[in-house]
Amino acid sequence: MSEPSIFTRILAGEIPSEIIAETENVFAIRDIAPQAPVHLLVIPKSAEYRNVVELAAGDPALLTEMIGLANALAAEQGDGDFRLIFNTGPHAGQTVFHVHAHVLSGGLTEGSLG
Ligand code: ADP
Repeated sequence: MSEPSIFTRILAGEIPSEIIAETENVFAIRDIAPQAPVHLLVIPKSAEYRNVVELAAGDPALLTEMIGLANALAAEQGDGDFRLIFNTGPHAGQTVFHVHAHVLSGGLTEGSLG
């Protein structure tokens, strides 16, 4: 068994972070280092999948649930539009290998990817 991920530890209450929303299988927190006015992380409660490719192959309904929560939170906390980013692999900047979606909303630069 590998060490519990930082997100599993947040869900267990071992690391302080406000859980701002949750569904049966998914929860959301604010990113500790925000890259946009609204920068949330939407995370499956289970750490079974390391990245979005594994998740999409193994449990597409869970991926759909994540997208639904991202959409609802972008409407509630941002301007309704959002970027959904899954860093996949260390060379793409992934540092936590418990799949999570970055949800960026509010004040995004038009026409920019970054
Ligand atoms: P990156 O660090 O390059 O964004 P990931 O895509 O794996 O890599 O994202 C992990 C995210 O988790 C980072 O945006 C980081 O700021 C965030 N993070 C790390 N620790 C915490 C924490 N305790 N509470 C909230 N967010 C955190």
